[in-house]
Amino acid sequence: MSDISTEARAIEAPNSGKPKLNVVLLAPRGFCAGVVRAIDAVEEALRIYGAPVYVRHEIVHNKYVVETLKAKGAVFVEELDEVPDTRQPVIFSAHGVPKSIPVEAETRNIFAIDATCPLVTKVHREAELHHKRGRLVLLVGHAGHPEVVGTIGQLPPGSIILVQTVADIAALEVEDERNLAYVTQTTLSVDDTREMVDALTTRFPEIVGPHKQDICYATTNRQEAVKQVAQNVDALLVVGSSNSSNSQRLKEVAERSGCRLARLVLRAEDVEWDLFSKISTLAVTAGASAPEVLVEEILDAFAARFDLSVQEVSTANEGVFFPLPRELRRETV
Ligand code: SF4
Repeated sequence: MSDISTEARAIEAPNSGKPKLNVVLLAPRGFCAGVVRAIDAVEEALRIYGAPVYVRHEIVHNKYVVETLKAKGAVFVEELDEVPDTRQPVIFSAHGVPKSIPVEAETRNIFAIDATCPLVTKVHREAELHHKRGRLVLLVGHAGHPEVVGTIGQLPPGSIILVQTVADIAALEVEDERNLAYVTQTTLSVDDTREMVDALTTRFPEIVGPHKQDICYATTNRQEAVKQVAQNVDALLVVGSSNSSNSQRLKEVAERSGCRLARLVLRAEDVEWDLFSKISTLAVTAGASAPEVLVEEILDAFAARFDLSVQEVSTANEGVFFPLPRELRRETV
């Protein structure tokens, strides 16, 4: 493909006695602009206000990131009732929150800072706009994911319905088929979502949706990079947490694109070495919430067992940047 660029990154000394392994390091991988902004928000709040800074839910779905911020003074809670009466900031995670959460924070005079990714907020606003125009909103997503909980919580009960499968769409009973809209979770599989949107538009030809899917640029680019190499490697590793939606999707995309062995690992200690003993090519990528330091840790662990040749393959350039939440920008001027 013409948009692929490659770069040889490192070659271990030959004749090491170790088996050879060609590593294809995919790019883009790892942190997206929304994750960088959310983590920076916690660090900046700690710098300005000192510890503790409270964070509702894991700021991003990565245990390493959460533990690192904990060590700096962040206190993670699941609900606001776990936050004591305090003037210290409480930060909402990148996944977004239902409307009831800022309301609860205001009632309690909590100093809230919203680190919801702007691309999730965009979906919230789309859902709101459809609702204002009298449309029933269908949300394509996975039940229980905090982003889905947050998006559903933008509208009054009954105004938004979650659909997870094509079968859900077939079984839908709606009062007015001509007054429907859909939005999607930002971190879904691009291909699965296309199928879901096809099913929606086939069953409800007048349904209104976004010009493109709501799946974000980072999810799209990381999946595309995986698709481009999945068939040409013996195995593919996704660095990321098991509760990270976009990381899980990367593993699935690899499998569906023909990769024989795909695994999601958080740290080097999670690698099942027996599975990788006979491979000669390995692709490595990282979910949008996985820091590069963990990719390096895993590459180092492979280098201890193999004579590595690492080549970076880039399928897209990302120059996306989101400024810090307003409250933190004001404090930094
Ligand atoms: Fe935002 Fe996409 Fe990153 Fe989620 S994965 S934080 S939606 S840019």
